[in-house]
Amino acid sequence: RKKEWAKLVDEKTETKDAHHVELAANIGTPEDVEGVLNNGAEGIGLYRTEFLYMGRTELPTEDEQFDAYKKVVENMGDKPVVIRTLDIGGDKELPYLDLPKELNPFLGYRAIRLCLDRDDIFRTQLRALLRASAYGNLKVMFPMIATVDEFRQARAILDEEREKLEGEGVDVNRDMEVGIMVEIPSTAAIADIFAKEVDFFSIGTNDLIQYTMAADRMNEQVSYLYQPYNPAILRLIKSVIDASHAAGKWTGMCGEMAGDETAIPILLGLGLDEFSMSATSVLPARSQIAKLTRTEAEEIANKALQLETSDQVVKLVEERSLNVQ
Ligand code: PEP
Ligand code: MG
Repeated sequence: RKKEWAKLVDEKTETKDAHHVELAANIGTPEDVEGVLNNGAEGIGLYRTEFLYMGRTELPTEDEQFDAYKKVVENMGDKPVVIRTLDIGGDKELPYLDLPKELNPFLGYRAIRLCLDRDDIFRTQLRALLRASAYGNLKVMFPMIATVDEFRQARAILDEEREKLEGEGVDVNRDMEVGIMVEIPSTAAIADIFAKEVDFFSIGTNDLIQYTMAADRMNEQVSYLYQPYNPAILRLIKSVIDASHAAGKWTGMCGEMAGDETAIPILLGLGLDEFSMSATSVLPARSQIAKLTRTEAEEIANKALQLETSDQVVKLVEERSLNVQ
């Protein structure tokens, strides 16, 4: 099977009936790009920038960040690279920021909430991203967006920094796409409204599942409720994809679910445009997708949406023996 996968490294990802989807990879550092290319990913769907800020005693400078982002987009050539702005808080701490201890860190001061409050930190990162946008196919993505106002505020700050840079004579890509992660149910619920303003969505199922099921993704005692295949989750995903398409936008997914062989046929059938996963999952996923037609996938997705439980959905996919195993 490894040999069969290796043959697919330079291929596009297509269903049996020639419908193209993009298989991208998630990365944490510029060093991960080599693995992304070796595994034939068509882009980077999530660059988690937190690691640039972690394991040190002070914030990274604009130039340090610029170097890292530029390196990634340059090494990816014309392939798309979605870079997520700082998503600190929750389970990820930065001791030098001296943040207050919270009772519910996952429901607290994290990601875009922190960035809009500490806009000094945010602006430095946005400037580095804008400068790097001149060197490749860079797209910016804001994490943990819960309201339209948050998105508008973040975008306004980005526009301000773009204008400043242009005033300084710095090259930036004026058409850089700006998207959001859909990982909070409030945002999924009004995806149609967001779709008018964002360039793309990327569904963060790791968080979307925990917030929808009210089950901490780290708490083993409630892990039985962490159900990617629950029809409630599938219906949310469907409504986000449909809303984006109705507005002529695209939807990706960068949570673990995107690389899960049981989920892939359903996601394909729901019309997901981009799947971003760990680099080593890309070739198995490409091989799995090549064995399916879009119509088959749609049939499975439509059936799954009508089922009652997560177990029933898993059974449905298994019966169709669409798993790689
Ligand atoms: C997610 O929530 O699905 C996601 C990709 O973000 P993270 O795992 O970094 O929270
Ligand atoms: Mg998340």
